[in-house]
Amino acid sequence: MSSIVLFGPPGAGKGTQAARITESTGLPQVSTGDMLRAAVKAGTPVGLEAKGFMERGELVPDAVILGLIEERLTHDDAQNGVMFDGFPRTVPQAEALAQITTITHVLAIEVPDERIVERICGRLSCGNCGTVYHDAFNPVPVAGCPCGAFEPKRRADDNESTVNNRLSTYHEQTAPLATWYRDLGIFHAVNGDRDIDAVAEDLLAVLA
Ligand code: ADP
Ligand code: ADP
Repeated sequence: MSSIVLFGPPGAGKGTQAARITESTGLPQVSTGDMLRAAVKAGTPVGLEAKGFMERGELVPDAVILGLIEERLTHDDAQNGVMFDGFPRTVPQAEALAQITTITHVLAIEVPDERIVERICGRLSCGNCGTVYHDAFNPVPVAGCPCGAFEPKRRADDNESTVNNRLSTYHEQTAPLATWYRDLGIFHAVNGDRDIDAVAEDLLAVLA
C-alpha cells in the first residue's frame, strides 16, 4: 500500500483540498483532527485524554495518535493507500509511519502566518455533511449546502488565542518535518495563498 500526506499549517486548506483529491484519486482522507474531535464528542478514553491538548492548541501525545492511525489502517478502505491530513505532525510520528506504509508524495500547502488567523476565525463547516466553508472566502451557497440539511458548526479551537498557539506549535514541532521529507525526495510545495481552484490544480498536477 502507498499513501500520500497533506502537509501545512493549521488553516492552510488541507481539509478543503482533501475533498478534491479524494474525488480525483479515490484515496480516503484520514484526518487525525477529525478522528480526535469524534473521540472528544463521544467521550472515549482517547477523547478525554486529547481534549485539553486540543483546547490549548498543543499536540496530542504521539502514542495516542499512533494508536488511532494503526487502528484506522486496518479498515477495508485503507488497504490500497490513504491520504493523511494533519498527520504526521512530529518526526517520531513520521518515523513510525515509515514503518507501516510507503509515502509516495508529501503535498505541502504553503500559506503565510498573517493569512492563517483570518482563515481560521472565519471557518465554519456543515455539521450534517462535513463540507468546510469560510464566512468570506468560501461562503455557503445562497441555495444552501448541497447536502440539503446545512447545520452551521464552528470548532471550539478556532479562536484567535488558540490559533496563535497552534501556529507556534506548528513552527516548533511540525515544520521541521519538511526537511525530513525533502531529504527523502518526496516533498512538493504548492503556493496555498491563492484561490481554492488554483491550489487544487497545482496539487493534482503533482499527483498526475
Ligand atoms: P487544523 O486543521 O487546523 O490543522 P487539526 O484538525 O488537524 O487542525 O487538529 C486539531 C488539533 O488536534 C491540533 O491542534 C492538535 O491538538 C490535535 N491533533 C491533530 N492531529 C494531530 C497529530 N497528528 N498529532 C498531534 N496532535 C494532533
Ligand atoms: P486545514 O484543514 O488546513 O486546517 P481548511 O481546509 O479547513 O484548512 O481551511 C481553513 C479555512 O480557510 C476554511 O474556512 C476554508 O474554507 C478556507 N480556505 C481553504 N482554502 C482557501 C483558499 N485557497 N483561499 C481562501 N480560503 C481558503
